[in-house]
Amino acid sequence: MKFNLIILLIAAMLVSSCNEPSSTAKETTKPEYALVIHGGAGYITKDNISPSKEKIYVTKLRDVLQLGDSILKNGGTSLDAVEQCINMMEDSPLFNAGKGAVFTETGENEMDASIMSGIDNNAGAVAGVKTIKNPISAARKVMEESKHVMLAGVGAESFADSMGVKMVEPEYFFTEKSWKSLQNIRKSDKHGTVGCVALDKYGNLAAGTSTGGMTNKMRGRIGDSPVIGAGTYADNTTCAVSSTGHGEYFIRNVVAYDITALMKYKGQSLEEAAQFVIMEKLKSLNANGGIIAIDKDGNISMPFNTPGMFRGFVLSDGNMEVMLYQEE
Ligand code: ASP
Repeated sequence: MKFNLIILLIAAMLVSSCNEPSSTAKETTKPEYALVIHGGAGYITKDNISPSKEKIYVTKLRDVLQLGDSILKNGGTSLDAVEQCINMMEDSPLFNAGKGAVFTETGENEMDASIMSGIDNNAGAVAGVKTIKNPISAARKVMEESKHVMLAGVGAESFADSMGVKMVEPEYFFTEKSWKSLQNIRKSDKHGTVGCVALDKYGNLAAGTSTGGMTNKMRGRIGDSPVIGAGTYADNTTCAVSSTGHGEYFIRNVVAYDITALMKYKGQSLEEAAQFVIMEKLKSLNANGGIIAIDKDGNISMPFNTPGMFRGFVLSDGNMEVMLYQEE
């Protein structure tokens, strides 16, 4: 009798362990596609963003995720999703990229961007450009239509123009917010570099990053965002990464590639590698910033060592989330 009871109990335990809650199943199931975005890391807290501002940011980030979702759902490539999601953020004055780019110390807007394909490690970048409406689209043209990886300044601008990329007058990039940020750099430093990483239905990864750089930077200063390996990296065998933060540190520490190298050569998971580089290595150097990343199995990581980072993700199962602060 007692023996039968034990058998019954063991059987019941076995059955219940096969019926784990669906959240566990979701975590281990590879999504058909996935996309992650960031809109910059920095001093982003509940205290310095009003509820109405917060709503504006959340709405815009959700719109971007919805665009990415529809591209990937309909069979678009990760490169298309990355470019178009970044275009949408570049067109918004909310972020420090494209329209909302910050000013140099001489009162100009000089923008950097890069994009990379995980299929073949092909990459393209533009640096220090002043008249390209959407620098990420110019970066993609450099990748696909030139024999180079990076073009800078007027050369990048005339190439983009010849490729049919939309050009604008430098005045297009003037926004009151960025101008105020330059006048009063310590009180209202503007963050908002934008980035996107995606995994498409074909298993291909892509990453892209676009920025106006850092407020009050020297004329001609190039940050990490257009530097392949620092601001952007993608490799189908590991992951796709887009960085945001104090660019000089991200260049010196080759942040995006460092994460993929830890995965490739040390066998670390994306989360382990990303946490180590951002929360230990960079933090110990007092280097502020964060990254978004997605691995070849659709796992996502979004660590940052600042009070906040505008970020969000969407998965093929419909799961979509937008977050701003640390405690989310
Ligand atoms: N990483 C960018 C740069 O240094 C700035 C940022 O992400 O906030 O140009």
